[in-house]
Amino acid sequence: MALQLPRRVNIVEVCPRDGFQAEVNFISTAKKVELINSLSQTGVGRIEVTSFVHPRVVPNLADAAKVMRSIQRRKGVKYRVLVPNLIGAQRAIDCGTEEIIFVLSASESHNLNNVKKTIKESLEEFNTVVNCVQKNGLVDIHAALSTTFGCPFEGKIAKNKIVSLVKRLADLGATQIILADTTGMANPVDVAEVIEFVEQRVPINKLAVHFHNTRDAGLSNVLSALQQGITTVEASVGGLGGCPFAPGATGNIATEDLVNMLEEMNIDTGVNLSRLIACAILVEQMVGRELHGQVIETGRMRSKEDDCV
Ligand code: ZN
Repeated sequence: MALQLPRRVNIVEVCPRDGFQAEVNFISTAKKVELINSLSQTGVGRIEVTSFVHPRVVPNLADAAKVMRSIQRRKGVKYRVLVPNLIGAQRAIDCGTEEIIFVLSASESHNLNNVKKTIKESLEEFNTVVNCVQKNGLVDIHAALSTTFGCPFEGKIAKNKIVSLVKRLADLGATQIILADTTGMANPVDVAEVIEFVEQRVPINKLAVHFHNTRDAGLSNVLSALQQGITTVEASVGGLGGCPFAPGATGNIATEDLVNMLEEMNIDTGVNLSRLIACAILVEQMVGRELHGQVIETGRMRSKEDDCV
């Protein structure tokens, strides 16, 4: 039987936040703005621009307010920012933010490690953030559930726990919940099972996925999610993200590889692949190294022609 796949997939580009946050060398505000403006011309419907976390925690995004005020906003593109708490949400609103994303971990130890809060405390913080942004007229409030498909400290997370957290986030006001594979531990079978379980309590159109390519299973996991009815997928141009100190570790799935695969499968993304690849090249120039995306020109893959084995 042929695969059951959606006709259209919405792409969320996260490189300016997820990719740049891990970079050691500071990327200038002008360069960040140049990339975001270029991404706005590719046809992606949503870009995660930056994060209003404390500059001590993420020095590379210390210019969040400046970036938000300098980008050219294109009609039809949504510009999302990450906020860790109420202070971040207020700073984001002051810069004319239209939508926010809040991050919570499905694993207690990862949440403590990542945001220095228990899950209960994070849910309380999310409630405060939602109240604040709703008062300011923001309607798109996203929540990412990191380590959904596994935690480096706790291993697999019980599906019941994931479902109850996703339901809680939806009840608190999240308009979209992103099931995130923070450390690249997901596999296609787990992805299908978790989504099947979650969608019994939360409508599928409220869910999105975010995969890392650490074990090279990123695009396979996307395919599995699409078969379950997911139509929103996050990715980072050039695959930027992840830990730059882990040798050989790759970050997010590369947006250009994702768009190439979907378009080859006759799934509409609305994204111009050539423009997206130009953005990937721009990111490589910004970070000064070759990245992990495999598609380097429409129809051509990286370096394989030299390999005879
Ligand atoms: Zn990521």
